[in-house]
Amino acid sequence: MSVFNSTPVASDTCVTSATSTNIVSPTPGYTGRFAPSPTGPLHLGSLVAAMASYLDARAHQGRWLLRIEDLDFDRNVADADRHILNSLQRCGMHWDGDVSWQSQRQPLYEQALKQLAAQVYPCACSRKEIADSRLRAGSTASQIYPGTCRTGLAPGKAPRAWRLRVPDGEAAVFQFEDRLLGAQTQDLASEVGDFVLKRADGFWAYQLAVAVDDAEQGISHVVRGADLLDSTARQCYLQQLLGLPRPAYLHVPVVTNADGEKLSKQTGALAFDRGDNDVLQEALLPAARFLGLQMSPAVRDLHIFWESATAAWAQYLARQPAQQPIQQPHMSLK
Ligand SMILES: [Zn+2]
Repeated sequence: MSVFNSTPVASDTCVTSATSTNIVSPTPGYTGRFAPSPTGPLHLGSLVAAMASYLDARAHQGRWLLRIEDLDFDRNVADADRHILNSLQRCGMHWDGDVSWQSQRQPLYEQALKQLAAQVYPCACSRKEIADSRLRAGSTASQIYPGTCRTGLAPGKAPRAWRLRVPDGEAAVFQFEDRLLGAQTQDLASEVGDFVLKRADGFWAYQLAVAVDDAEQGISHVVRGADLLDSTARQCYLQQLLGLPRPAYLHVPVVTNADGEKLSKQTGALAFDRGDNDVLQEALLPAARFLGLQMSPAVRDLHIFWESATAAWAQYLARQPAQQPIQQPHMSLK
């Protein structure tokens, strides 16, 4: 039984044939990655992101690394990482090299924070204080930090978090090209504000860890869910400050439930490989269709599935009109 409906993205531009090999473009140095958080088992939403990055790596004959993003120790679930590895293997998605865990890479983040010292300052604000000062400033819509501690801590205040000062004016505007969505622009000063690198609970912030890891692991191509599109400019800024290369980015649509919420453990998403269900029919084929890959439902074999899906992905990208927003697909829980 399929647990969701799916309508393909621009399915008229897709093919099912895997007979041609000339659509695969070997790209020397291509290294991609899938970077799940071990907050629960993989569900259909995270499978879509995993599949897109895996197919992109295969289509470029590149490497595909697996990185467990387990820095939020309050949200980690025991054994979720093992469950994720098992699910990927059951789907026939084999990673290259050793799996890495961000919790084992913290000296790298410490080193990066030191390197950024000139742009980093301590922040003593609690969430409530930040919310209150936004209200006083008449700003209710944004999540932008009001800059309270930018010029130093108020007397008697102790540092809680460490924030990175974003530039002013033109220097705050970051542009990058998304391979699917086209040109993207974000003004870090007016849309984001000074952001946290080390949290009040002592945990490393996602932005810093990702920027450091992608560079240190030689990631050339980042393929991930569009829920992370908004964080890309912050990572570009960190790359600039740290002298790191900028990978190519591609963001795929995220799967939502009937209420339009991103599928996650918090919104009740279930593991896609419960018990002895048929992952090919119940998870892989629907996920591929969600990505806009028109796949034959007659596929019965994992090897053939990945051959077909890789060819369909390569052709889908080749035909994707640049600069055109993709049609928002519909795939939601019943
Ligand atoms: Zn502050």
